Amino acid sequence: MGIEAALPVDSVLTTQLQRVMNWARRSSVWPLPFATACCGIELMATACSRFDLARFGAEVMRFSPRQADLLIVAGRVSVKMLPVLQRIYMQMTEPKWVISMGACASTGGVFDTYAVVQGVDQYIPVDVYVPGCPPRPEMLMEGIMAIQRIIDSDQIPRDPSGKRLPLDIAIAPNYEPRPQPVPVTIGLS
Ligand code: SF4
Repeated sequence: MGIEAALPVDSVLTTQLQRVMNWARRSSVWPLPFATACCGIELMATACSRFDLARFGAEVMRFSPRQADLLIVAGRVSVKMLPVLQRIYMQMTEPKWVISMGACASTGGVFDTYAVVQGVDQYIPVDVYVPGCPPRPEMLMEGIMAIQRIIDSDQIPRDPSGKRLPLDIAIAPNYEPRPQPVPVTIGLS
């Protein structure tokens, strides 16, 4: 069932070119996974069959920044890796968006040490923060959908000089943890 089944074949649609471009962009986001630690495993799960990121048109992971428009920073970033992250961001195509996935990428997490960047937003503009350690795939999807909504509504914020501003969206947890499948018995007898 495609759009051709919902509309008569000889019908004519009129719209704005910008709306078509936004629709195409939000339906074909190509992420670049900058996965440095355990959050990267959750990112991989998001693209696999159980969660199926392809439903949102964003499963085509690209490892060339020239072919990507969504940078997903998943995991802690060491000071040594920071120039690589910045270079990748600069080489990505415009318009581009950034998701900071997990506590480590957004704040350094438990790694409060001189060797780990205490929040990538100090060095690259972050549009969406996905909290958790690690965030579940549903939350990452919520973050991607938040960016898709912005693309669709053509609301890319810019300052008076035309410079792109980060969206600064923080995703709220969207799932309930399940209870333990078996009662905890260790140490009770
Ligand atoms: S936020 Fe947690 S799961 Fe993600 S990279 Fe840091 S320690 Fe690993």
